[in-house]
Amino acid sequence: MKDFLQLQDKHIVIMGVANDRSIAWSVAQSLHAAGAKLIFTYRQERSAKKLNKLLEKNEMDAAVIQCDVNDDASITSAFAEIKEKFTTVHGLVHSVAHAHKEDLNGDFIDTSRDGYAFAQDTSAYSLVAVAKAVRPLMAEGGSIVTMSYLGADRVLDGYNVMGVAKAALEASVRYLANDLGPDNIRINAISAGPIRTLAAKGVPSFNEILSKVEEKAPLRRNVSAEEVGDMTTGLMGALSRGVTGEVIYVDAGFNIIGIG
Ligand code: NAD
Repeated sequence: MKDFLQLQDKHIVIMGVANDRSIAWSVAQSLHAAGAKLIFTYRQERSAKKLNKLLEKNEMDAAVIQCDVNDDASITSAFAEIKEKFTTVHGLVHSVAHAHKEDLNGDFIDTSRDGYAFAQDTSAYSLVAVAKAVRPLMAEGGSIVTMSYLGADRVLDGYNVMGVAKAALEASVRYLANDLGPDNIRINAISAGPIRTLAAKGVPSFNEILSKVEEKAPLRRNVSAEEVGDMTTGLMGALSRGVTGEVIYVDAGFNIIGIG
């Protein structure tokens, strides 16, 4: 038990488990090992089915609540249900993003107005919306963590509109940190290295990115979802109490490399 993290019985909302490869699932396992009480949200029924099976298989007891981050009414009703069942929330993990497949193929300049707005809405604005919804439940203070990627800062072929959404996500983390800090609510982003998940399948150059990281990153390997899960647990707990508004790279150091 990672009891030094002081997460025993803390209520933590996890958004974004689609299956057992999801980064959010590794986050859940790490938080569970630290003693946290988990509340999962899902968008589609098929994710709920997979999630319930995973919980059963891993003998984890948790609440499972529907929440589509593109829909304000769905967010309101999800957090009303969480409030009714748990009263207080101590942490929230936002591990959600989506863009239209056609906007990840070809040139960024060809992104449609609709595709740009959809990626921003789902992958960046959603953090603002859920931070606002969870704030009144974090009366004892709290910690929010979201997942970003290097494409926010650098150009990566095939990441396109999602890179621009991640740039907005990281800027939102800073503005939210300033708004939420007086309530003792911290918010940070983890910029994860590439990990083979459902969302990663949408990035055409993904395999090439994986092998470049293995070749060039200081640790000469890729990272695992488990490593991202453990950093999230670190950001949820007391050891990180002085940290907010940051983007923390869990990428085997790849982001520091210039021309390798
Ligand atoms: P994933 O496909 O397992 O997770 C994405 C989740 O977003 C899914 O659970 C999906 O249901 C959810 N989602 C999409 N639209 C939603 C909506 N409208 N409402 C609610 N949920 C919605 O893939 P993942 O790789 O685990 O992605 C999780 C996060 O990690 C994303 O923000 C992704 O950009 C980020 N990330 C992934 C990688 C990687 O290489 N896999 C690297 C860096 C950052």
